[in-house]
Amino acid sequence: MFFVESSENSHLCPVCQGILRYRDSRPRIRKKEGGVKERLMIRRFRCQNCHSYHNELPDCLVPYKHYEAEVIAGVLDEVILPGDLDSEDYPSFSTMLRWLQWFRENLQRIEVFIVKYKCRKLQTKNVGRCNYIL
Ligand SMILES: [Zn+2]
Repeated sequence: MFFVESSENSHLCPVCQGILRYRDSRPRIRKKEGGVKERLMIRRFRCQNCHSYHNELPDCLVPYKHYEAEVIAGVLDEVILPGDLDSEDYPSFSTMLRWLQWFRENLQRIEVFIVKYKCRKLQTKNVGRCNYIL
């Protein structure tokens, strides 16, 4: 089990921009290429303003997905295809289709999030590791 922790000490709530305080840590599964599973401990924060909970994710994970970002990106970029010889080590065909559908449905939201995230990074002038709060 690996503990994942950002080098940033202060996080802002993505809902209301309130200050987030560390609450606890929780396990998170990371599925890697070849179906290998790894357990990570990620930090959970609570907003001091709106009281919502947010998980701190390392850049190798995608929200609400067990597979690591590299595998999902491979499917979305069509580097990993269902017909590949070693596709049995990858997600099922229906999982790949669900990811593609989710990506198409959320593309505009993702682009807005990236722009907001870049603005926030520029405002804080933080050049440390790229972690994000969801
Ligand atoms: Zn908040």
